[in-house]
Amino acid sequence: MGRLIIISNRLPFSIDHEGDQLTLRQSSGGLVSAIKSYFESDSSKRFTEKLWLGVADFPQNEWSMVSEQLEGRDFQIIPLFPNKILYKDYYNGFSNSVLWPLFHYFPSLVENQAHYYDAYVKVNKLFADKLIPILQPDDTIWIHDYQLMMMPDMLRTERPDITVGFFLHIPFPSYELFRTLPTDWKASILRGVLGSDLIGFHTHDYAQHFLQSVKMILGVDSNFHNIQYQDRLIKADLFPISIDYKKFNTACNDPETKQYYNEIRNNFEGKKIIFSVDRLDYTKGLMDRLNAYDYFLEQYPEWRENVVFILNIVPSRDDIQAYTERKQQIEQKIGTINGKISTITWQPIIYRYTHLPFSELAALYKSADVALITPLRDGMNLVAKEYVASCSARKGVLILSELAGAANELNEALLVNPTDTIEVANAINRALTMPPEEQQHRMVLMQQRLSDYDVIKWVSDFLDQLSNVKLEQQKQQ
Ligand code: UDP
Repeated sequence: MGRLIIISNRLPFSIDHEGDQLTLRQSSGGLVSAIKSYFESDSSKRFTEKLWLGVADFPQNEWSMVSEQLEGRDFQIIPLFPNKILYKDYYNGFSNSVLWPLFHYFPSLVENQAHYYDAYVKVNKLFADKLIPILQPDDTIWIHDYQLMMMPDMLRTERPDITVGFFLHIPFPSYELFRTLPTDWKASILRGVLGSDLIGFHTHDYAQHFLQSVKMILGVDSNFHNIQYQDRLIKADLFPISIDYKKFNTACNDPETKQYYNEIRNNFEGKKIIFSVDRLDYTKGLMDRLNAYDYFLEQYPEWRENVVFILNIVPSRDDIQAYTERKQQIEQKIGTINGKISTITWQPIIYRYTHLPFSELAALYKSADVALITPLRDGMNLVAKEYVASCSARKGVLILSELAGAANELNEALLVNPTDTIEVANAINRALTMPPEEQQHRMVLMQQRLSDYDVIKWVSDFLDQLSNVKLEQQKQQ
C-alpha cells in the first residue's frame, strides 16, 4: 500500500547531551504518543515504510551521530534545519503570536506582522521542497497542525495526484474571528489546507467553522462534509483524538507509580486532593481557576485544612512575552491565596513549575479526588482523558471546562464555564461531596467511551477515511 509519511513541525524526539554522549528522548504530547502507538501496532503493517519529517532540535553537524542512534527504529527520520531567525518568525511569530491566539479566541494578543507571515510561507515551502523530490506515487502523506496549513497546497501544486491528509489539533475559530486576519493571509491559509484530500478536526463545531470560512472567504460551497474544489472532492470531518488508554489504565500497577502514590497519600492523609496539570498558557484559564478556588475556600470554609490543590504548571514558550507576563501574575496570585489562609500545618495550594515524569503524573492522576481542568479554550485537552483513564474501577470527579473539545465526549464530567467563578466554586464543593457510587457510575461510562475509541483507532480511522476519499475521487473521474 506504499509508504506513510508523517509531517509535524517538530520531530518526535529531542536530544540530551551528556559529555560527548547523545541520547534520544521521545517528545511528550498527544500526537507523538498517538503515532508511536500506531507504528507499533499491527494496523500500521499495511504501509511498506514509515517516515517522519520535521524540524530537528539539534544542529545539522550532529545529524550523522543522531542517525546512528536511530538505526533499527521502525520509521525513518527526515530532519529539517531551517535558519534560526526564520524559524523564530515562523514559530514564535506567525504560529504562536498570530494563529494560536486567534484560533483560541484571544484576538487582542494577535500580532499581525508581515515578516511573521513571510516566514510562515517560507518555512512551509521548506517543508514542501524537502518532501517533493522523494515522493512516490503511492505515498500517503499526513500533515499535522496549525504550523503547516499552507503545505498541502504547496505539495498539490507540484504533484496533483498525491494523497494528503491534514489534521488541525487546535480549534478552528468561528468565521467572525477568522475573517479578522488580513485578506491575503486568510485566503492563502484556506487554499493551503484545501490542497488536502481529507481535513480532520477534533469537533463538529471546528469543522463547521472551517467550512463556513471556506464559503464566505473563497466562495466555495460544501455539502455536509464534502467540498468540491478545483474539480476535486475534499472531505472535512471530525476525528476526536484519543489517548493510549491501556497505558494510563494500567499505569497504577507500575512499582514506581505505586511508590509515588503512597507518598502522596501519606503526605496528605485525611485530606481531599484537587489536581491540575497544564502548560503555562493563557488558554488554560489558570488565573480564573485560582480565583474560583479562592472563592470556594471563602464560601465553603469547612473545607479549609481538609483539602489541598496540587497545581502543576509545565514550562512552555517562555520566550514569548504573552507567556512570561502571565507566569508572574499567576505566581503572585498563588502567593496571595497561600499567604492569606495557610496555617502552620496546612497550605491550600502546592504549586510546582516543572515537567513531571510519567510515573509521577500517573500517581497524581490516581491520587486526585478531583481533577480541575478549566481551559478558556482547548482544541481537545488530553489531560482530562488521561485522568479518566487512569486506573480501572477508579473513583474521583472530573470538573471540565465546557470550552474544551473533550467536553463533547466526556459528558459525565461536571461541565463548567471556566470564567464563572461561582459556578466553578460550587462544582468543586459538589465534586468533593459526591457519593462514591455516583463518582464511579460517571467514571465507568467515560472510561468505556475512551477505551472503545483509543488512539490506534483514531489514527486508523483517519487513514481509512483518507483512502476512501481517494476511491471516491477516482469514481468521479
Ligand atoms: N504532560 C507531559 N508532561 C508533564 C505534564 C503533562 O508530557 O509534565 C502531557 C500530558 O500527559 C498530556 C499532554 O502533556 O498528554 C498535554 O496535552 P493537552 O492536550 O492536555 O494540552 P496541550 O499541552 O497539548 O495544550
